[in-house]
Amino acid sequence: MLQEICKDRYGKELKELTNEEIYLALLEMVKDLAAKKESIEGKKKIYYISAEFLIGKLLSNNLINLGIFDKVKKELEENGKSIYEIEEIEPEPSLGNGGLGRLAACFLDSIATLGLNGDGIGLNYHLGLFKQVFENKKQKETSNPWIESESWLTKTDVSYEIYFGDHKVTSRLYDIDVVGYNNRINKLHLFDIDTIDETIVDKDGISFDKSDIDKNLTLFLYPDDSDEAGQILRVYQQYFMVSNAARLILEECKRKGSNLHDLPEYAVIQINDTHPSMVIPELIRLLQEEGISEEEAIEIVSKTCAYTNHTILAEALEKWPMDFLEKAVPQLVPIIKMLDKKVREKYNDSSVYIIDNENRVHMAHMDIHYGFSVNGVAYLHTEILKKNELHNFYEIYPEKFNNKTNGITFRRWLFHCNEALTAYIDELIGIEYKKDAAKLKDLEKYIEDESVLNHLLEIKAENKKILKDYIMETQKIEINENSIFDIQVKRLHEYKRQQLNALYVIYKYLQIKKGNLPKTPITVIFGAKAAPAYTTAKDIIHLILCLQEVIQNDPSVNPYLNLVMVENYNVSKAAKLIPACDISEQISLASKEASGTGNMKFMLNGAVTIGTMDGANVEIEQLVGRENIYIFGETSEQVIEHYEKEDYIAADYYINDKEIKELVDFIISSEVMKIGDVKALLRLHTELVGKDWFMTFPDLKEYIRVKETAFKDYEDRMEWARKMLVNISRAGFFSSDRTIEEYNKDIWKL
Ligand SMILES: *Cc1c(COP(=O)(O)O)cnc(C)c1O
Repeated sequence: MLQEICKDRYGKELKELTNEEIYLALLEMVKDLAAKKESIEGKKKIYYISAEFLIGKLLSNNLINLGIFDKVKKELEENGKSIYEIEEIEPEPSLGNGGLGRLAACFLDSIATLGLNGDGIGLNYHLGLFKQVFENKKQKETSNPWIESESWLTKTDVSYEIYFGDHKVTSRLYDIDVVGYNNRINKLHLFDIDTIDETIVDKDGISFDKSDIDKNLTLFLYPDDSDEAGQILRVYQQYFMVSNAARLILEECKRKGSNLHDLPEYAVIQINDTHPSMVIPELIRLLQEEGISEEEAIEIVSKTCAYTNHTILAEALEKWPMDFLEKAVPQLVPIIKMLDKKVREKYNDSSVYIIDNENRVHMAHMDIHYGFSVNGVAYLHTEILKKNELHNFYEIYPEKFNNKTNGITFRRWLFHCNEALTAYIDELIGIEYKKDAAKLKDLEKYIEDESVLNHLLEIKAENKKILKDYIMETQKIEINENSIFDIQVKRLHEYKRQQLNALYVIYKYLQIKKGNLPKTPITVIFGAKAAPAYTTAKDIIHLILCLQEVIQNDPSVNPYLNLVMVENYNVSKAAKLIPACDISEQISLASKEASGTGNMKFMLNGAVTIGTMDGANVEIEQLVGRENIYIFGETSEQVIEHYEKEDYIAADYYINDKEIKELVDFIISSEVMKIGDVKALLRLHTELVGKDWFMTFPDLKEYIRVKETAFKDYEDRMEWARKMLVNISRAGFFSSDRTIEEYNKDIWKL
């Protein structure tokens, strides 16, 4: 099959081609096969609008979903080639930042797999999120071009004139086919403009002229918004995304026979976090242009739009100054004011107004008033929204609130990333679980079967060996494949508490120096990008990289403890790290992690979680039971109370607890200071002792204790393998197919 395509394309045998050439031939082949598939059709369609789609590399996944992965792999092998080497050629599209964007990608996979009629709509960022490199033990951001002359993108002839306050741009739509697993296809629509100019970006960096919208509009995902020009650029991007989306949706519905009065019968729009919120006033504006009255336009839009909340961090809920909207999108300003006025007429409660007394527009408030559904992304998160963060809205609209616990696609996060485990599960329980993830439960009949348990341990050991080699190859760091792999990979944020894990590493380092050696050596692995303007997050990366060097250079410690920070954590790295993990670190401050999806990926691949009762960890704990997870830390109620009473004082812990003080002071010890940036280390120390906004210290000692218990339990290999088996077998609930079925049943009703 591939052989013929290669002959046509290059006039050569597969054997004679380079991996680059074969990659391009495969790209062509897969795009052709997808194009020949029928589109999923139906009267009503879900449009999932999102600023991020962290789709990752597509080649292997599309081969899997087309049902030809094994065949292609074999054909390549027969010709002396390796699919795994060819995968490496594909550039990873970096169209997302973290969990929210990855969720959107998993959802598209599940929507198509379930045969539901639904497309994604977003932006075609040429340089995506920045690429992280480490220089002098610090994060440096560089640009990450991923679009090559041949790519997954297909240029369409869809194009709109989009008007901003001061000028207009002409959009261009590119599509990526979303192949369902043994099913038909949907589309990911990515809007762009033809005048983008990548050459305006600094060589060797990510800065550029933020005012030149024609050249920069779709350069970066989340351009630096630490100044006003950057913030206004985000408003331009958001409006560009939703105005295009609204035009596309209305055109498509009209083509299918909608008279627009009946729009909710043709379209449902899921607003993924607040970035696409302006779609509400934009649709109202467009419907009015079509001759529909203001009142009816509001009603139509309110029956079409549904909002997903992803965070309770106040600083992450978007509030745009009205001045920015006046400049970028003046046409929406009267509509937003009108929507706010109606709210004020009805509710005498300033906490639910759209425009606050500082003249800022609360995007989430607009979504809640003028959408028909508000969902959180895990049980606890939705409960906190109802009880605390959005309580006043819940009082007004109890019927709008619902929970949809996140999920992950097993195609990528099991079948693709862990072929050995997948094959073994197939052998044990058959392949039914591939279409019905709940069937994974059948694995549990092997809970007392030592040969099965041993085999699980062997697969894990093999995956660890592969990761060890990969880390050696990519970062020239030697780790011990027989050590315990303890992994924390996720965006760097104080609420996720990489600093807590770093303090544990300091604890272990000092213990080893004192002669308290671990039975089995430990390898702690981090991977995380920090937002370019987030100083404390960058200081934490610096600390971790300093600790890495201290440990590496200490022959009395490194046989027992290794530390690696993986550079440029992204989807492909996740796929290599997760199958090799023994202990999954999910240690956010309780109440702050809306769901987490990394936690689910690790569980599915047989890692045991150490975590707080936060996000979907709560549901993991319920599913696996206390014996199969390590829980520590204050509860969300306790944490919320500290914030309400403002009674947490970090310095009290630091001053009164010698053990805590010793660990924290290691950050500014001579060992670390002589190899690190003194200013950054002092700043981080001061931040922790003076503020510690995400309450690291109260949880620190219990974290250490529980982690020590986990390491001790690891020694009983059969008991540990049982924990692994229970985690894998109960992960079925976290299939994004289940999540999407719930969205469809309760919200979309396709
Ligand atoms: C799954 C995933 C995330 C989300 O991880 P959390 O631990 O849930 O924050 C972030 N980045 C990448 C690349 C992922 O694959």
